[in-house]
Amino acid sequence: MAQHLLILGGTTEASALAQTVADQGIRATFSYAGRVANPRQQPVPTRNGGFGGAEGLARYIRDHNISHVIDATHPFAAQMSWNAFHACTETGTPLTALTRPAWQAEPGDNWQHVPDIDAAVAALNTPAERIMLALGRMHLEAFAAQPQHHYVLRLVDAPIETPGLPHHTVTVARGPFKTADDIALFKTHAIDRIVCKNAGGRGAEAKIHAARALGLPILMIDRPNLPQRTECATPDAVMTWLNAHPATDRGV
Ligand code: NAP
Repeated sequence: MAQHLLILGGTTEASALAQTVADQGIRATFSYAGRVANPRQQPVPTRNGGFGGAEGLARYIRDHNISHVIDATHPFAAQMSWNAFHACTETGTPLTALTRPAWQAEPGDNWQHVPDIDAAVAALNTPAERIMLALGRMHLEAFAAQPQHHYVLRLVDAPIETPGLPHHTVTVARGPFKTADDIALFKTHAIDRIVCKNAGGRGAEAKIHAARALGLPILMIDRPNLPQRTECATPDAVMTWLNAHPATDRGV
C-alpha cells in the first residue's frame, strides 16, 4: 500500500508538520474542521469539514487509501481525537498524535484550575471584573450566566452575530501571538483576570507569559480526557514514527 498520510489539523503544530511532510515529498492530505473563514494555506492538499463521526472517518480512510493518521488537533478537540482513535482501530491504520505538554504554573503564578467550561463559569461568581476570555468563539454564550463582567474576546474571525454577553469587546487576531503584544493588549483593556484552556504549545503561550509579567491571575481550564495513543512531541518525531510503521496492506 502506498504511503498517504491524513493530518488532522487546526493547530500551529499541524502546520509545521505539513511543512515537514511537504519538504520530504511525502504524500499527505491535511484536514480542517472548516470552522474558520480563511484557514491558513497548507503546502499539501487540503480538505475541509467533518467526516461524519468515527464511521465517516473510517470510510474516508478506506476510500482514500490513507496509510497513516496523525492527530495534530488541539488538545481540547477531544471528540475528533476519540473519533480518530476508533476509526484507526477499526481500519487497522497506524495512528499517532502530535501533542504538546500542558503549560505549568511557576512559583509566583496565581492559577485557579477548573475541569471544564461550566466550572469556569461557576468560578466567575465574583464582583465585576474585566476578563480576557481567551477561548475562541465556541462556548462564549455560557459566560452570559455571569453578566456582571466585561469580557474581552479574541477571535480569529469577526463574529457574524453579536456575542450574547452584555458587556464585551471583540479583538480579531490569529496566533501565533507575541508576549509583548499580549502585555499591551491586557494593559489597553485593563484586564483583571485571564480565562483560558491549558492548550500547551508555543502558538498561544504568549498570554501565559504576559499574565506572569503583569501579575494577573489565570482561571485555567484543564485538559479533557483523551484516548491512549502513541504521541510525538515534534514533526521530526512523527517522521521517526513513520519510518518505524511502514504502510501495510489492510487487506481490502
Ligand atoms: P471537536 O469538538 O473535537 O470536533 C467536533 C467535530 O468537528 C468532530 O467530530 C469532527 O466532525 C469535526 N472536526 C474536528 N476537527 C476536525 C478536523 N481537523 N478535520 C475534520 N473534521 C474535524 O473539535 P473542536 O474543539 O470543535 O475543534 C475544531 C478544530 O479547531 C480542530 O481542527 C482543532 O484542532 C481546532 N482548534 C480547536 C481548539 C479548541 O479549543 N477546541 C483551539 C484551536 C484550534 P465529524 O464527527 O463530522 O467528523
